[in-house]
Amino acid sequence: AAHGRPAPAPRSPVDGVRHIIAVGSGKGGVGKSTTAVNLALALKAQGLAVGVLDADLYGPSVPKLLGIEGKPAVRDDGIFSPHEAHGLKVMSIGSMLSPGQAVVWRGPMATSGLRQLLRETHWGGLDVLVIDLPPGTGDIHIALFQQVSVDGVVIVSTPQDLALIDAQKAIDMLRRMDVPLLGLIENMSYFIAPDTGNRYDIFGSGGAERAAAMLGLDFLGAIPLVMSIREHSDQGVPPVVGEPDGAEAKAFRGIAERL
Ligand code: ADP
Repeated sequence: AAHGRPAPAPRSPVDGVRHIIAVGSGKGGVGKSTTAVNLALALKAQGLAVGVLDADLYGPSVPKLLGIEGKPAVRDDGIFSPHEAHGLKVMSIGSMLSPGQAVVWRGPMATSGLRQLLRETHWGGLDVLVIDLPPGTGDIHIALFQQVSVDGVVIVSTPQDLALIDAQKAIDMLRRMDVPLLGLIENMSYFIAPDTGNRYDIFGSGGAERAAAMLGLDFLGAIPLVMSIREHSDQGVPPVVGEPDGAEAKAFRGIAERL
């Protein structure tokens, strides 16, 4: 191979997993992990067997979002038994760290850590594995998309121009790596005041939908900015299970149906 680099291993399926959907974003803090766990729960509500892999190794937030504590069990053969939370099978490096402990890994360590979480886990017959990607476009993305057959990626963005510009970079990477894009989700789309019910378009409105059209992507839907999403997430009970009749749960279910 050029420059003496070994050719990447061909993309291969993950044992015990039929489909993989990854959730990405251009930058952090846009609600990518929140979207990933709620979409996973919405898919579960459709009757599918669903797992979540937290690939955001440097900022794992899935255990907190799903109320998971402690380390996953390890079988005699060294294979992880994933955590179970709200009916999902879940793996995250966050479950293996002590509170406040950082992951201080260079790229190769990170990619081998990810490979272990993904391939040395007994997923046990999932219809869908939802992967919460790190924000941006880095080593972990490259390794994952080269080695694993990902069926499709959804990109989460806020309506702000900056978040959308960053989202475009993530989209550019996926296109260049030949990874199918399922579409764009606008999170924190608008604010509904809990006391008056008035709607405020804090970041402007329709930005993500226009951007999706411009980029030739499907627009999968908008999630409002609501206090209960943050509150439920902090309690480890995402709105899709914690408040299934709420507007935000409906929004997540609507998007899951389009995947
Ligand atoms: P990311 O994975 O993009 O870094 P997170 O999913 O961790 O972002 O969300 C960041 C913070 O914003 C969390 O505290 C989360 O509860 C909150 N949050 C995300 N989406 C919403 C929303 N639609 N309404 C209210 N709070 C939200």
